[in-house]
Amino acid sequence: MADLTGKAVLITAAGQGIGRASAIAFAKAGAKVYATDINETALSELPKLEGLHTARLDVLDESAVNTFVASIGPVDVLFNCAGVVHGGSILEMKDSDLDFAMDLNVKAMIRTIRAVLPGMIERRDGSIINMSSVASSIKGVPNRFAYGVSKAAVIGLTKAVAADYVAHNIRCNAICPGTVDSPSLQERLRAQGDYEKARAAFVARQPIGRLGEPEEIADLAVYLAGATYTSGQAIAIDGGWTI
Ligand code: NAD
Repeated sequence: MADLTGKAVLITAAGQGIGRASAIAFAKAGAKVYATDINETALSELPKLEGLHTARLDVLDESAVNTFVASIGPVDVLFNCAGVVHGGSILEMKDSDLDFAMDLNVKAMIRTIRAVLPGMIERRDGSIINMSSVASSIKGVPNRFAYGVSKAAVIGLTKAVAADYVAHNIRCNAICPGTVDSPSLQERLRAQGDYEKARAAFVARQPIGRLGEPEEIADLAVYLAGATYTSGQAIAIDGGWTI
């Protein structure tokens, strides 16, 4: 595992799922971690690890993002993990769902990146990691129109930021998971009615024969945080879904 001693890491949506596992993994790799979320109860349940700090931060609120980033000092690694999944095809989707998906899944990343970039440019170092999905420009997934549109935009914004700032030694990459066992995935499975049937269908998408674990995605985030020669990449981590 990468040694991130001395690095300051800001993670959004660290209260549960992949963000939570990543906050723990970053702290174990020696980083000073700012684990943020809107759910303060979930944050309070994070283990008490050295270097792990928690704070409420709503990434939909630009002024809160700017105030928070100004209050913590230099950020070496930004992990934009916040995101929402809406179901439905283009004909079933509500416009308000697409607006919300674009705001939380895409524009929130733009807010946090704008807040940390000037400091990264000044220090000529930084790693930005954006949470996309294989359900994006990589793969069309049924019943995920708003989600796929927004996660494809994440790959576009990742490559655009990477291109603009690679000469400043700032790396920007996207993580594209397949199906990962997280609290919101469990909610989506329960919402289908027949939980076992829905779970079997989600498992079957991955040729490896199981769901991904948040810790497996966290390992990739830690790797990218320490990677010094990789930028503009959309890295699939999906149990073979896109082989
Ligand atoms: P999750 O959906 O279970 O948890 C999401 C977290 O985001 C919650 O703690 C919630 O409080 C927080 N959050 C919601 N709105 C917020 C806001 N405005 N500001 C700050 N925090 C907010 O977690 P997950 O399933 O691990 O998903 C995390 C990310 O990974 C998302 O971007 C998701 O799209 C992406 N992803 C997940 C999967 C999967 O199968 N679970 C697959 C591909 C990509």
